[in-house]
Amino acid sequence: MERNKFALTPERSIREAFLEASSFLDGVGVLEPQRNAQLLLEHVLGLTGTAYYLALGDGFPEDRRSDFEDVINRKADGVPAQYIIGEQEFYGRSFGVTPAVLIPRPETELLVEAVLKYGNQLAPQPGERLTAVDIGTGSGAIAVTLALEAKGLRMLASDISPQALDVARRNASRLGADVEFRQGNLLEPFAGLAPDMIVSNPPYIPASDIEELQPEVRDHEPRTALDGGPDGLYPYRVMMDQLPLLATPPRLIAFELGMGQAQDVADMLRAAGHWDEIVTIPDLAGIDRHVLGIAR
Ligand code: GLN
Repeated sequence: MERNKFALTPERSIREAFLEASSFLDGVGVLEPQRNAQLLLEHVLGLTGTAYYLALGDGFPEDRRSDFEDVINRKADGVPAQYIIGEQEFYGRSFGVTPAVLIPRPETELLVEAVLKYGNQLAPQPGERLTAVDIGTGSGAIAVTLALEAKGLRMLASDISPQALDVARRNASRLGADVEFRQGNLLEPFAGLAPDMIVSNPPYIPASDIEELQPEVRDHEPRTALDGGPDGLYPYRVMMDQLPLLATPPRLIAFELGMGQAQDVADMLRAAGHWDEIVTIPDLAGIDRHVLGIAR
């Protein structure tokens, strides 16, 4: 359906530009219209926080008009604000994102925390470096954060998408993280390696549920990052099947998963027989979100 395009009235103050944009976004049904309008206005004006509030009474700069109209129209089309401004914060750092990668989610920070906590208990031999692998790294949020937070860790990461790996590599170099990236399907690029830890937030949405996702997710985030096959568990099964490719199974394995999948994934880890302790961790909404296998 063709809708009206946002066009800012000439000679407006920045505050009036904010009000016009938020009521436009509200009118086309965008959620959180005010938050989105402010975020996009700050982005176009290059102002954040206090500087933005102090500028509200100033005239809206004419040379920014078409940029502002453009980003508001993209938001009205349902494009996630993170793709428009090109970044998302994760674990206190800004990660570049493009539509080639999933936007990192806050619950994934809890997966990183769990890996740091349990990884700490895998005391390496003197002079030995622990090796960790992030499978399906996307933007590189997990791998880059672990590399920066766990000093001395050897960090590797894979993704099947070369475009995603470009984004992840840029994030690693921009944030100064030492991560070795390899292209390929799940564990396959690490054949012969003996990682101490494996972490993964793979695609886990059952294929038949994809149509019911919020349109912003469904229509704009990469399908390869979402679609987990008929029951959503396909990537976990493949990883379990691929374990014999490794020189030794990892002492710590840590997965993120979707609602209602914790029991099945915990059973898969138990059945593999490599880990004597299985830990399930709920997210802030109380949904079992992470399952870990730990060999003591
Ligand atoms: N590992 C990335 C993240 O957690 C990407 C996950 C994915 O694309 N399924 O954000």
